[in-house]
Amino acid sequence: MSSQANETTQKDWSKAKSVLKVRDLRIHYDTPKGAVIAVAGISFNLYEGETLGLVGESGCGKSTTAYGILQLIQPPGHIVGGEIQLDDRNLMGLSEREFRRLRWTKLALIPQGAMNSLNPTMKVHQQIADVITTHEGRQPKEKMRKRILELFKTVGLPARIYDMYPHELSGGMKQRVCIAMGIALNPSVVIADESTSALDVVVQRVVAQTLLKVKEMLGVAMIMIGHDMGLMAQMVDRIAVMYAGKIVEIASVQSLFKEPMHPYSQVLIESIPSLKEKKPLKITEGITHDPRNPPPGCIFQLRCPFVMEKCKTQEPPLRELKPRQEVACHLYEVSETGEVKNVAASA
Ligand code: SF4
Repeated sequence: MSSQANETTQKDWSKAKSVLKVRDLRIHYDTPKGAVIAVAGISFNLYEGETLGLVGESGCGKSTTAYGILQLIQPPGHIVGGEIQLDDRNLMGLSEREFRRLRWTKLALIPQGAMNSLNPTMKVHQQIADVITTHEGRQPKEKMRKRILELFKTVGLPARIYDMYPHELSGGMKQRVCIAMGIALNPSVVIADESTSALDVVVQRVVAQTLLKVKEMLGVAMIMIGHDMGLMAQMVDRIAVMYAGKIVEIASVQSLFKEPMHPYSQVLIESIPSLKEKKPLKITEGITHDPRNPPPGCIFQLRCPFVMEKCKTQEPPLRELKPRQEVACHLYEVSETGEVKNVAASA
């Protein structure tokens, strides 16, 4: 699996065609005590055929970002602003009816926890047929059966589960049914929201391999949401690291794992357990801020071991400090010759 990922990680994705553009996306959840800022103005591109990982701790806004892109945010949450373009079409002004036509056909979600997303009262083939029928209308029974069995084959499911109910399947099989539903209408973008969490490690690997296989067979662009950095290293081309609703670093998977630049990315990478090198688990010290009232300046300042006065007043912009590596941190200065200097290391 890793070799497949490594072959593509060298690519300069910025030269590829962008299928999805997210600009300054902001999502809030209203509470009686004020708005919780779940996504605080994030921007990124997803390129044709690319897999982009969105990582960060629970509550950092990665799943909210996915649901925002799919316009599935439920009240009291709402999109406050920003722009989302799919194949150069602005999605923000679309009505729910117009957007419903895009879901599954252009933008598909493979949800977190297949257990809760499949209907326990319907056989698995009926659930996939429902998706197809809703968008393409009724089809001859045999044609639909062949199509569903073909989808099963693509995701490695045996034909015998055709007439089964979700409770008769293992966790990994259920997750693969969700993948089959996600790709049933050949979308151009698939968002996999923690698709391998809640599975044991062996099944996790099988499901991850299925996702990779499907991605390569269909050539779809994929956003993969998760917090397992080890799995991400093998699965994705680029990684966007999120902290408290912001992207703090976005880089090719190789650059990020070789030389993470943002202090939070460094902690994430250092927290990957290693069998070869036994080391104490790195813990991010400090407290998180009140999400309704973020501090001025850098969002990570309360937990950052390198915090400086400037960090408390000026928000660091996301800058490309190295080829294919953008970082939001005041720790780095770029000289006129383009040399990047770590001010903490040289102090
Ligand atoms: Fe730390 Fe300052 Fe960089 Fe924020 S801007 S991560 S507080 S050094």
